[in-house]
Amino acid sequence: MTDERVLVSFNISEETGATSMKQKRQHGKKIVQPHTIIKAVTHICLTQANPGKLAALDALAPVYLALCQQYVTFFCTEAQPDKFHAPLFPTPLSERWHRVAIQQAAGIAGSWRTNREQRYQDFLDELEEYREQEVEGTLDEQAKAPTWREWDVPTLRQTCIQANANVVKLEVSEDSSFDYWLKISTLDFRKLLFVPVRLAEYHRQALGGKTINSSVQLNKCNDGWWLSLSYDEVITVQTEPDAPVIGIDVGVANFVTTSDGRHYGTFNGRLRERQKRDREKRRRKAKLRACLEKKGVEKLPSTTSRSGQRLIRHVRQEVNRAVNECFAEHPAMQFAYEQLSIATMKHKSRAMNAYMRASNLAHIPKQIAWNAAKRGAPATKVKSAFTSQECSVCHSVDKKNRPDQQTFCCLVCGHRTQADLNASVNIKRRLGDEELRACKDRQEVKALLMKRHAAWKIVQGWP
Ligand SMILES: [Zn+2]
Repeated sequence: MTDERVLVSFNISEETGATSMKQKRQHGKKIVQPHTIIKAVTHICLTQANPGKLAALDALAPVYLALCQQYVTFFCTEAQPDKFHAPLFPTPLSERWHRVAIQQAAGIAGSWRTNREQRYQDFLDELEEYREQEVEGTLDEQAKAPTWREWDVPTLRQTCIQANANVVKLEVSEDSSFDYWLKISTLDFRKLLFVPVRLAEYHRQALGGKTINSSVQLNKCNDGWWLSLSYDEVITVQTEPDAPVIGIDVGVANFVTTSDGRHYGTFNGRLRERQKRDREKRRRKAKLRACLEKKGVEKLPSTTSRSGQRLIRHVRQEVNRAVNECFAEHPAMQFAYEQLSIATMKHKSRAMNAYMRASNLAHIPKQIAWNAAKRGAPATKVKSAFTSQECSVCHSVDKKNRPDQQTFCCLVCGHRTQADLNASVNIKRRLGDEELRACKDRQEVKALLMKRHAAWKIVQGWP
């Protein structure tokens, strides 16, 4: 299957900006250069090879995995991830394989550290919000102070080898019965393994006329070995540097709301009905389990729900459709969207269960980034603090500006509008707002907004 996923080169840098698009200033004019995204073609089956050959690969897998794990642990706990770190641990693998393991481990540990850091920042924000409410006396009765539990170092369970041409080489086959040969160096360093690769028709179509990257990925599952290939695609930026900005608010009632007042997709209606049914089903199942457990039945029915899995897939499809439509209806524009944290997600969907919240709201910004990248439209993440509480007219920040989930009504200036629309206008304005970007935490953001509110009052001649 072709997989429209962005791999390594598509880095979404946190605050500064959009995608890997490079922005340069020349003679005061901003020029956006074309950028490259990596597209992957996954699930190429390697069962064409005879079992004896794959046995050599099977022998390599656990040795590689164990070595990679050692470096993952090392880079997560003792040193900063470094792709070119000197070898530290003894291994029967060749020096070239050793290098590949270090490189892959550095990548895994790097994203683990970034995610942990982000989550920790979320936790600090949550804690701050909690303390704020404590001081104001607005805490919910059941509210508990957020706590931090240190993350475990990632454990590599499935064999996934990201190999470069030093250890695995892809060569076009002269023989017509196969498309490629994979030349793999094995534990026995004098012996090269030749694994034939035959592409399915859809793989061939996806790869047709493309220059395949030299690094490949090998995955081992229960049903055998699979290969992933990738190629670079250069995206020309379609958007003028001074194109109008569209702010995007992400939510549950409306997956996407744009600052020009359009809505795309919703969790309400059909999806919510399905979620309710699924929840009922799981409740009944849990009851049944408890009942059987009491009676001493040993083999209990599973708790995972297939309809739940289907629901999640369905929500994701709806999200993809909504985001796609939003971009299609806004050609030649640039976008600003929220950097969603766990705290903002909670705020946006109190009624939803934790799993739906985490898996699907978080999916929306990813889709925004991906749509922007493949269309060459600049999209920039901006700070999400108080976007739903700030009045887009007078900048006053107050939780009470939201009488209900749908409505925004400013307690100071009386500005009344749809809540998501108000937020998307704030988000739009935060693009290029250097002063706000420089704020270190929620408190600084709030102080800045209140300062702007005071300035607005003076301009308007308020007492
Ligand atoms: Zn206002």
